[in-house]
Amino acid sequence: MTKASLEAALNEILTERYVSNDPNVAIAYVRDTGIFEGFPPEEVVRPGSAEEVSEILKVANAERKPVVIRGGGSTYTGSCVPLMEGTILMDLTRLDDVVEIDEGARSITVQAGINWGKMMTILRQRGYTPGMTGPGSGWTATVGGSASVASTGGGRAKFGGICDQILGLQVVLPTGEIIRTGSRVNPYAKAFCRYGLGPDMTGLFLGDHGIFGVKTEVTMRIHPLAKSVVHFEYAFRSEEKAIETFAELGKVNELATSINFYDADYVSYSARRPGYAHLSGVEGEVLGTITAQSEKLALAQKEVFDEIARKHGGEELEPKRAKHAYENTFFPYNTYFWMRRDSGIYLCLANQNSADSLPRVIRGYRDFLKAHRDVVDKYFEYQGITVQTYMRHITMSARRYLPWKFDMDPEARRIAMDFWTKEIDFFIRNGAVHYWIGKIVGDRLYILVSKEYHEFLKRVKRALDPNGILNPGLFLL
Ligand SMILES: Cc1cc2nc3c(=O)[nH]c(=O)nc-3n(C[C@H](O)[C@H](O)[C@H](O)COP(=O)(O)OP(=O)(O)OC[C@H]3O[C@@H](n4cnc5c(N)ncnc54)[C@H](O)[C@@H]3O)c2cc1C
Repeated sequence: MTKASLEAALNEILTERYVSNDPNVAIAYVRDTGIFEGFPPEEVVRPGSAEEVSEILKVANAERKPVVIRGGGSTYTGSCVPLMEGTILMDLTRLDDVVEIDEGARSITVQAGINWGKMMTILRQRGYTPGMTGPGSGWTATVGGSASVASTGGGRAKFGGICDQILGLQVVLPTGEIIRTGSRVNPYAKAFCRYGLGPDMTGLFLGDHGIFGVKTEVTMRIHPLAKSVVHFEYAFRSEEKAIETFAELGKVNELATSINFYDADYVSYSARRPGYAHLSGVEGEVLGTITAQSEKLALAQKEVFDEIARKHGGEELEPKRAKHAYENTFFPYNTYFWMRRDSGIYLCLANQNSADSLPRVIRGYRDFLKAHRDVVDKYFEYQGITVQTYMRHITMSARRYLPWKFDMDPEARRIAMDFWTKEIDFFIRNGAVHYWIGKIVGDRLYILVSKEYHEFLKRVKRALDPNGILNPGLFLL
């Protein structure tokens, strides 16, 4: 098939309006929010239904054309950008409707390309929340993209990540068949539960980064909005005591949607910003938010937390930062991050760790930074470490800003990638498990996982995607 006949076949499925090979359009898809740069796609398609997704995949199979799936394009690790020439880029953001809010079944079903901002606004108007309230990039990130990278975000202390809330999916398999998972596999059942249908086939597609299929609908639990919201914030003169408090709060938590720890570096970085001078001399902070259906319940949880913090010498602060974090779950600047090619960037790292690993990982990471001081001091604005409770374990972010105009300096890009790779290796070797692993973390991880596990992944991939057309190049496949 020639370029022209491929375009004609795609036009027949979608109409010209939603198919483009204009280089000015293609260039918008070579990057995500990170520094990874891919190839401009040969065609960009914007399907509006699962049936159209299916037809496109059938054409791609017939022509052996690689297809790269893209939601909001807000990941950092190069998984939604073409890793080779001659791809069809499938942009899913036209699939952006709420399909159903079923209050009886306590679930919401959305098209996978809806962004969190839109879904949350509609849900809030009906008095509900999905529990996990989306990633910080929620004005851009799509629910399907988040499910594909196992995102977590607001609400994680009580509700975990998106995968913990998902009840079922509609997926178009790489060969074009449209399937459902979860209770709606039973044609008589509502969308209300995920397990009990044999193996958990929903799980196969969660965190898959799109290698096993295109999600076209996602069903999640819904929870009534809290009637009472109480914030807490404690300052410590000893980082060790702050860590102990953080660990204990995580252990006894029933109602807090967030419990966060800020290390000495991050508190000192904050103290230098306007409005936070009162943090000067503080070595660690523990803060967060409790939500409940009555004030009595919320205050009872806070009393338990207060007692633990006092025992470790915590001083109660006005919970300004906890309130701000709760009320601003989405960062306002994320969209413009990847548009502005002349600005700096967060070379972000976010991973999950077991709850008991924190003191060891923080110590080890500081040694790692010392060993790379020449690069860190010269090129980065290092801010510190923030840690969040994720149900019974923790997530950790090392925050450093890369204020380079790296697009204009290939050497800077090389140094950034080299440092980032070493850092990823450090965390993997210290027992961390990342989410949104994408190309960059995925390659490092799959060098280390057992050969048998990688072979198993390859077999599943071959069974579902015999021509290897969907998101090729991820996880060393
Ligand atoms: C400022 C900022 C803050 C962030 N905060 C967080 C955070 O708090 N928590 C967090 O987890 N992440 C965070 N991220 C990372 C990222 O935004 C999220 O992981 C987000 O969920 C990705 O969704 P997306 O729609 O942008 O996915 P994309 O980047 O478009 O795609 C990610 C992967 O999923 C695949 N994919 C996308 N849609 C589908 C689909 N429908 N079916 C199958 N595969 C698909 C793509 O091929 C790709 O492999 C943040 C990023 C930024 C820039």
